[in-house]
Amino acid sequence: MQNLLPQTCRSCRGRFWLERLPQGAILCPYCGATVSDRGQPERRGDTVPAWTVHHGTAVPGIRTEDGLIILGDEGRGRQLARVPLPPGASLGREGTVQALPVSHPDVVAVVLIRDHSGYRGGWELLTLPREDCPLRDKLELPWEETCPVCEWRGRHGPYPTNPLRAQDLGRLIAEGRCAQGGAGRMGGGPEYLIAARPGEFCIHRWGRLYGAPRFVGVRIHPDGRVETWDVMDALSSTRAAESW
Ligand SMILES: [Zn+2]
Ligand SMILES: [Zn+2]
Repeated sequence: MQNLLPQTCRSCRGRFWLERLPQGAILCPYCGATVSDRGQPERRGDTVPAWTVHHGTAVPGIRTEDGLIILGDEGRGRQLARVPLPPGASLGREGTVQALPVSHPDVVAVVLIRDHSGYRGGWELLTLPREDCPLRDKLELPWEETCPVCEWRGRHGPYPTNPLRAQDLGRLIAEGRCAQGGAGRMGGGPEYLIAARPGEFCIHRWGRLYGAPRFVGVRIHPDGRVETWDVMDALSSTRAAESW
């Protein structure tokens, strides 16, 4: 008679029998979480909170349509991506997924970053700048000229900044693209679904923003919370506080 061990998956609470196996990873037959040969699911099968960053704000949950996360648009200059939810994802009311299982222990949240393009503009990921340009009120910057300190062209900005790739934030699960105008050439930008590590970064937006922040700070806390703020607001209040 075989030696079968009753198991309960810690990820999905599913019950199954496990043969005692000499080695190798065993997957839960219900949710796919990795169960070690001792029957204990590893921490990597845990779920992490899902967040959406749009319009410069982080909100809990990612909206789904028919069980799919939709990134980007369909059409010219656009790229649509449909991402099926992994087994073990917890769907809330109105098809919003609140938590997702991840297979990497350093990932603390799954973050969907929506298109942040301004009207007829675009957006990009940057490292988080630490200071506003000290020449802001001292050096007039003509159009097409680059500031020697902050290195922004045409107008001063926060610095230092370096380009970031979505891959630098964790694991890029999927990418789509939104665009403006029929031919898709009036502006637009990417959308990223990222299994993110703790850290911080900046969303730099251009085009007409109608008063919305040009630089949005994003912080992914180790506990999986995601917060956003207006980088220029924060830098100028730091400067004001230091002037007292
Ligand atoms: Zn399971
Ligand atoms: Zn400058």
